Amino acid sequence: MKVLVLNVGSSSVKFELIDTSLEAIQNGTERKLGRGLVDKIGATTSTVKFQAPGKEAFKDELNIPDHAAAIKEVLTLLTDPETGAIKDVKEIEAVGHRVVHGGEYFTQSMLLDEDALEKIKECFELAPLHNPHNYRGIRLMQQALPDVPHVAVFDTSFHQTMPKYAFIYALPYDVYQKYKIRRYGFHGTSHRYMTYAIETRFAKRPRKEFKAITVHLGNGCSIAAVDGGRSIDTSMGFTPLEGLIMGTRCGDIDPAIILHLMAKEDQSVQEMNTLLNKFSGLKGISGLSNDMRELIAAMQEGNERATLAVKAFCYRVRKYIGAYHAALGGADYIAFAGGIGENSALVRELVLENLEKLGIILDRGKNNSVGAKGGEITADNSPIKAFVVPTDEELVIARDTVRAIAGVIG
Ligand code: AMP
Repeated sequence: MKVLVLNVGSSSVKFELIDTSLEAIQNGTERKLGRGLVDKIGATTSTVKFQAPGKEAFKDELNIPDHAAAIKEVLTLLTDPETGAIKDVKEIEAVGHRVVHGGEYFTQSMLLDEDALEKIKECFELAPLHNPHNYRGIRLMQQALPDVPHVAVFDTSFHQTMPKYAFIYALPYDVYQKYKIRRYGFHGTSHRYMTYAIETRFAKRPRKEFKAITVHLGNGCSIAAVDGGRSIDTSMGFTPLEGLIMGTRCGDIDPAIILHLMAKEDQSVQEMNTLLNKFSGLKGISGLSNDMRELIAAMQEGNERATLAVKAFCYRVRKYIGAYHAALGGADYIAFAGGIGENSALVRELVLENLEKLGIILDRGKNNSVGAKGGEITADNSPIKAFVVPTDEELVIARDTVRAIAGVIG
């Protein structure tokens, strides 16, 4: 089954065509048929890219005024006679949509009907920057491909297994009842993929039998405690702002700082939101960049603030690993994914060094030489094994789409 995976943001549409089926999932014989991006929607010139394996990459600058034009462009890119992946849009047999917030409604991926779409709309206020675009993408693609099933895969649903004592904030209980303010957690597809990869590739043990700490370090960062394949805690909260230090987001801070700063600098809610989400994190501490590569380079040249940013970043991850080790009653595995987690041996080393007493014995040689396919980075005698796992969120979405259609999700 050819599944189109769609990730619609405020100014971009990311997509990938994946050939998969229940049998292919079982046998690992899925095929990636091409991936692309329509970026800077609404700007004077939008960037349009597509790459099918074995074919010439396509790239152009076009005028894409809105999401309707972007969705049309996705189908044009897929069917281009020279650089596309299919001859006709009729070859697309299903669409898997990434949806950021499923609130408390969605505990798993869902075949979309009007009722499910209504619930996604009800989650707009929980994710005002994401869900409206995800919803619009679904509606537009349903119009373009009305005869195929559409499935929603939520960033939050994997974490719906958290116990209430882990997701409740210590605020007056009625803010949870009135406004649904609680920890939701995000990056669920990546944490699920890491769990799956530990089970099938790295530890080769059924997920029911192990406890894992999954660490996603990209521009956004989150960490999860996974017990028997179920998320029992995660660092992102009501929004993706909580938890680890990120590229431009602050992660955990004392909430009183916000009140203090707003009073001191007479800042509006919007200004404070921008400060916390766009000017904090690695960028805020270093004053240099949100890009870990640039910060490591600056650190190696002796830049003090870059060094501080990298150290604070790694220290926070390390602290959460300790916390989740305790929350799980002892982890068996740790997985690293995301642009930083997969590519930076230095960050992994700063996070895991000197944790022998916790049962983690890093092997520096393995850590420095692990390749693009990932692998183990701990010593043979390490009680807890750590792995680098190249994450694949699109594959999770394509698989869930097939499973939801077959009614075998869960
Ligand atoms: P992502 O959001 O998953 O694409 O990750 C983006 C982050 O990964 C950025 O901070 C990049 O600087 C970082 N990154 C990518 N490659 C490397 C690398 N080789 N070393 C350190 N950080 C990297």
